[in-house]
Amino acid sequence: MPIAPEYLHLVHPDTVFHALLYGRASRDPKKRGRSVEDQLDTGTEMCDTYNWPVAEVFKDIDRSASRHARRARDDFEALIDAIEAGRGRIVVAFEASRYYRDIEAYIRLRNACMAANVLLCYNGQVYDLSKREDRKATAQDAIAAEDEADGIRDRNLRTARSTAKKGTPHGRILYGYARRYDPDTGDLIEQYKHPTRGPLVREAFERVAAGETEYSILQDFRSRGERLPGIEWQYYHLPTMLRNPGYAGQRVFQGKVLGEAKWPPIVPRDLFDQVQQIVRDPARLTTKDWSVRYLLSGIARCGECEHAPHLRVVKTRGHRAYQCSEGYHTMMRTKMLEGYVEQALLKWLELRATDAFRTDDQQVKAAKARTRLAGLKQQLADAQEKAATFDDGGRPLLSVDSLTTLEARLVPMIEAAEAESRVVQVPPVLVGLIGASDMEKRWKDLTTEQQRAVVRQCVNVRLHRARARGIRTIEPGRIVLAFVGEEGFRAQPRHARGAARE
Ligand SMILES: [Zn+2]
Repeated sequence: MPIAPEYLHLVHPDTVFHALLYGRASRDPKKRGRSVEDQLDTGTEMCDTYNWPVAEVFKDIDRSASRHARRARDDFEALIDAIEAGRGRIVVAFEASRYYRDIEAYIRLRNACMAANVLLCYNGQVYDLSKREDRKATAQDAIAAEDEADGIRDRNLRTARSTAKKGTPHGRILYGYARRYDPDTGDLIEQYKHPTRGPLVREAFERVAAGETEYSILQDFRSRGERLPGIEWQYYHLPTMLRNPGYAGQRVFQGKVLGEAKWPPIVPRDLFDQVQQIVRDPARLTTKDWSVRYLLSGIARCGECEHAPHLRVVKTRGHRAYQCSEGYHTMMRTKMLEGYVEQALLKWLELRATDAFRTDDQQVKAAKARTRLAGLKQQLADAQEKAATFDDGGRPLLSVDSLTTLEARLVPMIEAAEAESRVVQVPPVLVGLIGASDMEKRWKDLTTEQQRAVVRQCVNVRLHRARARGIRTIEPGRIVLAFVGEEGFRAQPRHARGAARE
């Protein structure tokens, strides 16, 4: 339970509560809200009364008009930083809606406070987010604040499930569509194809159906501009888009197709189905060159020559062997070298590839997304539990309406966080292979050229001379492998990459 500020010193004697003061102007056409200065005055007074030294003050002005202004950070971000850096012990705002622009802002604030053991104060109450009860209470306030911010009125508030069944749009708008609202009532009139984004979605489906890779489409889209103002195309945007039945005019709720949607399809059903077969095929690869029959010819290199010429395959005494293409410096039977490299490569793909391909930046983002994901899932679980728990009067602690509204909001956010936590800039040839549990089978199902593409992306192979003539075994140090991210690894030119538009 939250406690009143005047009791805080009883619960936490000997603690000095350095305060982080936060004020935010909201989009409030009727100007009922208090100005930022008003909010901060009230907060300062409160801090004086309870003897909390004000450590820092943060204020966000109304940014709705300047959303696309080039302002990378607002004070909310600075506040999160200050919490994470331990520059205060309590965050003080005037009321819940000041913190919570949306559920996501709430989750971030909550996680930051929990991690740094910082208390949250608003509406004259102090919340300790390490306590489950307080998390529930603040979550409810966040939902209420977001509803208010969205201007959702009771008479318009139907449950997400029933709207989903009717096929009307609900929740986050699908990229490629736009919505028209009644200017008087605020009611949704229709969801229609966005004049420029709709055709872009359609184009992506058509190009994949025509055999182009998501990677090259992404590069092209990037070169043509931003996905949304201020938002660039990211690697995970396309895969998510290409799998969303909403584009075929299907209404989906919690991962299940419920039926025909009210909005027009951007992609015809047969095209959508065709693309599903392509994008869900794990062995889909980009390179095609059937002229080469050996796994490592032209890829593995001689370890004895300084400029490391490629190995080639020669026939010798009835079997084939890799040999330095410039002389007799190195030689090993094809089966032996291939077996060794394959084994090491599959092990590496299974255990270490994911991290190797992640940039530092992506690792940070993925870690953040995982934290966010955990918070969102917890919130959903809390809400579901609450809806299944009844008070003495037989009413659920959380109404079905609230739950479904919450679910409709959270599910897309959870999906987005999941997608983001998985994001790795993996070369297209490796999608479906990295981390797979049935790696060996998948590997065997690939054509030689596909396998060669994988090798080229992942590992440098150098073959050294045997200790003495006639040695056929693999002595330590004869085969030297350097995988992506390891010292000595050099990217090798990739063929047929940009030219995948067939
Ligand atoms: Zn050589």
